Amino acid sequence: MNPVYRKLGTTIFEAMSARARASGAINLGQGFPDGRGPQDVLAEAARALIEDSNQYPPMLGTAPLRQAVAEHYRVHQGLDLAPEEVVVTSGATEALACAIFALVSPGDEVVMFQPLYDAYLPLVERAGGVARLVRLAPPEWRITAEALAAVASDKTRLIILNSPLNPAGALATPQELALLADFCISHDCVAICDEVWEHVVFDGARHQSLIAQPGMRERTVKIGSAGKIFSLTGWKVGWMCATPRLAGVLAKAHQFLTFTTAPNLQAGAAFGLGKDLAYFEGMRAGYQRSRDRLRGGLERLGYAVLPCASTYFLNIDLTASGVDMGDVAFAEWLIEEAGVATIPVSAFYAEAPVTNVVRLCFAKQDATLDAALERMTRRP
Ligand code: PMP
Ligand code: GLN
Repeated sequence: MNPVYRKLGTTIFEAMSARARASGAINLGQGFPDGRGPQDVLAEAARALIEDSNQYPPMLGTAPLRQAVAEHYRVHQGLDLAPEEVVVTSGATEALACAIFALVSPGDEVVMFQPLYDAYLPLVERAGGVARLVRLAPPEWRITAEALAAVASDKTRLIILNSPLNPAGALATPQELALLADFCISHDCVAICDEVWEHVVFDGARHQSLIAQPGMRERTVKIGSAGKIFSLTGWKVGWMCATPRLAGVLAKAHQFLTFTTAPNLQAGAAFGLGKDLAYFEGMRAGYQRSRDRLRGGLERLGYAVLPCASTYFLNIDLTASGVDMGDVAFAEWLIEEAGVATIPVSAFYAEAPVTNVVRLCFAKQDATLDAALERMTRRP
């Protein structure tokens, strides 16, 4: 077995969900909504499944979806992307794998930020890259010039930025984006921007992409996911956007990873991306209400909850809540004794256990959140 895989366990999301399924715990661990998703998007995918071709779609994605992604980013983020600059993938996960495998050569250094989404490190290491990790600290999780300078070297080739940030729920500020652009330009590196949470942003804030910073257009790979935009995480339809030169390089990896993605799901995603502003506003408002419901309940139980500007996740600062057993042990206790699955944020660090924070997914029906809160009246 490849040594990178030898040291890996099963991802925390699958591990916690499997335990929740087996034990009947309420699953606030893995991030997925328990609603049905938009009916018209589902109907379009169902129609396409029955009426349209089910043979291989084009390798780079169907023309309607590539067009819809470019148009969607024009309307929602003011970006000027051509359909030829969009490559459709089987989820953002495949886009990350393509970008990392296509752009990292053995010995290249890759700057990443902790807490980091669990796929990044194994993919970078499997490509032979060397991780240079910057630690971000709660409650603001900000990137500083000093922290970047400390990990820079003449081997720096790539940065991987996740904004909005899972699990922290933080959005990169204009100052951080300018700093990162400056860093990429002065070190001549490419930025992989994992922006799957770009629409799940609260309190009137707006996501801004690094690709819009001066000088970043030709050195950014912008990654998105229909799963997040339409609350349909099982769909696994994603995309990566980059200039034609860079997109051509990414496509070389994509053609031998999955080659293509189910055509009816591409049709559903293309339809959904054209939905009016009200859909996106309604989705945000709904998740914001759920965030506030869970936050209010947790605070009433005496938990200190960290700020959440984005994503489906709230984080409890266990130290500030008077719980000092460690986040891994707390998550264990909670699933075993109270019947609620969560994710210890230590899982998002290369060296665990390192934080004392647990993540809870609030993209659930009110009744599910209330039932979890009821179970959590028990404390260790
Ligand atoms: N990146 C981040 C930061 C995520 O949170 C997720 C999934 N929640 C993904 C990538 C994977 O997205 P997909 O399901 O489209 O592969
Ligand atoms: N991104 C989801 C989360 O953070 C999980 C994705 C997965 O299960 N691989 O919970």
